[in-house]
Amino acid sequence: MRKILLTKKLNQKNAALFDGIADIDLVTVADGDQAAFDTHIKDAEAVLLSTAYKMSADVIAGAQNLKVISRTGVGVDNVDVAAATERGILVLNTPQANSISVAEHTVALIVAISKQLLMYDSELRAGNFKVRRSGKTTDIEGKTLGLIGCGRIGRFAAEKCKAAFGMDIIGYDPYIESLDGITLFKDIEDVFKKADYISLHIPLTSETKGLVGEKMLSLMKPTAFLINTARGGIIDEHALADKLRNDEIAGAALDVLESEPPQADNPLLGLKNVILTPHSAALTKECSARVAFEATRGISDYLKGDQPEFVFNKELIK
Ligand code: NAD
Repeated sequence: MRKILLTKKLNQKNAALFDGIADIDLVTVADGDQAAFDTHIKDAEAVLLSTAYKMSADVIAGAQNLKVISRTGVGVDNVDVAAATERGILVLNTPQANSISVAEHTVALIVAISKQLLMYDSELRAGNFKVRRSGKTTDIEGKTLGLIGCGRIGRFAAEKCKAAFGMDIIGYDPYIESLDGITLFKDIEDVFKKADYISLHIPLTSETKGLVGEKMLSLMKPTAFLINTARGGIIDEHALADKLRNDEIAGAALDVLESEPPQADNPLLGLKNVILTPHSAALTKECSARVAFEATRGISDYLKGDQPEFVFNKELIK
């Protein structure tokens, strides 16, 4: 029997993707049941992997039968891709399934922080109606959005911000030469200096870890906002908290944090000019369904002997 380890329960539609495939044993472990995961990964041939589990080099080394890791999402930073590639294990992801939802969340964060929706709501409930005259809100129309990373999510977010608010879009992405409707800068610092909203849409890698620290934050306008729907480790949270505490930038809206869930002493938790969401940008009903389907389809394609559509370590299929 070929063991397929699932870290998400399959619905009927997704389970049907395995119809007609002989000799497979589908084993489901609940999100967070690390002990069961550790047991079953040892002889699994494929794993449907949520963010709750890490495929470190050690785990990969112990998974002797493993041929496919299929990530339910686009980020593969919970997989040691180099170790998997060395062993010839395909790493699959679902790059298109969540782009629209994360782009929508980015726009929602831009609106919420500009209009101070959360602060006004909590002040009003506390009886402070006079807060309406605090002068803390800003318009978005005609402002400049600075994208760090101009891939799928960055570009969708840009389209929406342009259509809704007539924003000017600038960006930094050293891997892209030119783009329609986005003015690309060769120097990331120019984007940090010019933008009214900096929005991060880059993967977390050794190159981007801590990229947004004291130096980059110091370049931002005091009226500018920082939006992050990418990955937490890209921002130095202590440096950001210092800037926000001293009103050196206007605010931040973050869907992702370096440690998730955050430690109780995370300095951002006590600040008012920050909006936080629990890594929920891609967890809309529609998006969760698309991601689970795509990730499951990658495994069933492999089992049927077909080429999965989204292979992250493409060098294995050249
Ligand atoms: P993508 O691969 O389409 O785009 C990423 C872009 O970043 C690429 O254009 C690449 O050239 C660029 N890039 C890479 N390194 C860079 C660097 N050092 N500086 C500037 N640009 C750089 O990916 P995407 O679908 O747009 O997703 C972007 C990120 O969003 C993912 O890596 C993931 O971490 C994150 N994400 C978060 C959620 C969430 O739930 N909040 C969901 C999906 C994705």
